[in-house]
Amino acid sequence: MTITINDPAVAATNSIPDVPPIPVETAGGRRIVTGDRPTGPLHIGHYLGTLSNRVQLLEDGCPVTVVIADYQVITDRDGTGPLRDRVRTLIAEYLAAGIDPDRSVIFAHSLVPALNQLLLPFLSLVSDAELNRNPTVKAEALASRRSMSALLLTYPVHQAADILGQHGTLVPVGKDQLPHVELTRLIARRFNDRYGTVFAEPEALLSTTPAVQGIDGAKMSKTRGNTIPLGATEDETAAILRSARSDGLRRITFDPVARPQVANLLTIVAALTGDDPRQVADQVGDGGAAALKALATDVINESLRELRRRRAELLTDVGYLDGVLLDGSARATATAVRTLDQVRRAMGMNYFGRAGASPAGPFRQYR
Ligand code: ATP
Ligand code: MG
Repeated sequence: MTITINDPAVAATNSIPDVPPIPVETAGGRRIVTGDRPTGPLHIGHYLGTLSNRVQLLEDGCPVTVVIADYQVITDRDGTGPLRDRVRTLIAEYLAAGIDPDRSVIFAHSLVPALNQLLLPFLSLVSDAELNRNPTVKAEALASRRSMSALLLTYPVHQAADILGQHGTLVPVGKDQLPHVELTRLIARRFNDRYGTVFAEPEALLSTTPAVQGIDGAKMSKTRGNTIPLGATEDETAAILRSARSDGLRRITFDPVARPQVANLLTIVAALTGDDPRQVADQVGDGGAAALKALATDVINESLRELRRRRAELLTDVGYLDGVLLDGSARATATAVRTLDQVRRAMGMNYFGRAGASPAGPFRQYR
């Protein structure tokens, strides 16, 4: 597919004319779009589930766009929390992991209002029954111990706007996000059927570890407080792993059904070392859970040492981190404004013939 943000037409409709195009020569024309909620620091589940894939794709020459889904914070809680610090920490963690800001776009949803306008036609394309049967949303509503808010019910549609607004074609995510990517595909398909083709149907990209468990055996999640944070110190990492659930059998074996917590630790080690989890189990042998946890601690600390060093360094320069966000949000706005223009044209809302032809300057609002 054609890439939009380098297109000269963007410059014509772009309300932020000073933004230089980023290099978007891509491997196979793929555009990577994915994101995270700024609800806390990233953890090993992010690293293995999606972050490593993002970095790999970037290294393969694909442009990567990362959405910091700040409006999604309030889907399941009251208040936004220490959002500013959390957003800066996320950016530092992306960069420390290898997301090069010169070849990628990191933006906050709230800084790109055009995406919220895309939401309106998209909402018309799905039924409440389809939204209500989304298993991830149901699980999140249950975990929040409150009644489902309209935002929680509809956030997968916002996410479709985030992805399609950037013309994403490949979405590296964890397993919990599959229903959302499926909904995005449905919305793209229905929009195209109804109004003419504007969107490609993006595909989800899973890693070999798409559902990392936390130390309590449930999905590792910032909200559950069961994580191994990327930014933990080596001692903190050791303490967290010591408290991880396991079982009392001395012989370590890889059996995800009968021994899920042990299998999870083996899977984490294997993913970081490139070994097979069975090999790792053999290596630990009769050492029991204590030896497995000690091995996992060493492997995690070793694998993250450089990331942690860069993360700490980056966090001392908030001006730079803010600049990355500002620049990324300007680029994302340029793309989203153009997509919105395509959508409005397809829907017969191009009242003035061409983008930007209104005396009021219809895109001024997106500055
Ligand atoms: P929260 O508890 O606030 O929802 P989270 O830990 O679930 O936080 P998200 O920001 O919701 O993290 O997810 C960001 C991305 O990371 C998504 O693509 C998601 O699928 C992936 N991800 C999150 N947790 C895991 C995990 N445990 N294993 C694999 N991928 C994960
Ligand atoms: Mg989540």
